[in-house]
Amino acid sequence: MALNRFQGLSFFTTANGAQGFPIHSQGEVAFAGRSNAGKSSAINTIANRTRLAFTSKTPGRTQHINFFTAGKDQYLVDLPGYGFAGVPIHVRRHWENFLSSYLQNREELKGMALLMDIRHPLTPLDQLMLDWFLPSGRPVLLMLTKSDKLSRSQRLNAARKVRAEIAPRASDLTVIPFSSVSREGLEETIAVLEGWLDSADVPSYTDEKTQETPLNE
Ligand code: GDP
Repeated sequence: MALNRFQGLSFFTTANGAQGFPIHSQGEVAFAGRSNAGKSSAINTIANRTRLAFTSKTPGRTQHINFFTAGKDQYLVDLPGYGFAGVPIHVRRHWENFLSSYLQNREELKGMALLMDIRHPLTPLDQLMLDWFLPSGRPVLLMLTKSDKLSRSQRLNAARKVRAEIAPRASDLTVIPFSSVSREGLEETIAVLEGWLDSADVPSYTDEKTQETPLNE
């Protein structure tokens, strides 16, 4: 496979509040998903590394957003995994406020990849992420992970069902069966993410952020 910007992915910073976000970001793609969905494996596969992203199996780590540098001033953003059983309500509240505000307000965010186990997609918390993000009109990539666990016809069927359910609410939707084991969907995923980062509507930090007119330069 040709080199892509994610193969140079390196850890940049971790944040548990907006004050920790990179200030001169020129574009971000966020990875969201339930704990155990295969998010760390997918990031490592995309980066062609073995231990770049770590699985966070403990509720204490659910509050952090990790930024990985993917090209100059661009980031792949690993959002906290969700869906732990027995999470205290104050932790869940913090998580909800933090994630909803990042997904709804972060101007630099170009699109969201939502990772779901292909055998158990669209859980209530996955739907919550979509409820927060889809109204922005920005693109969504649904990565149906661990696709190696199903036969080819089951995979296609699962993707078709998920697409049919979400498409009416999404203006820009891509659904990809993905496997960190077989590497199914890898090149397609990278192409989608690179397309988002290459799209032109980056915020400008040299001008006032008040312009209503499109940036033409
Ligand atoms: P995270 O909690 O979302 O970061 O999930 P991990 O990447 O740690 O994966 C959770 C579990 O699923 C681990 O046991 C992985 O080995 C397994 N896993 C992840 N991706 C795949 C995949 O593509 N295929 C299979 N068969 N197992 C996977």
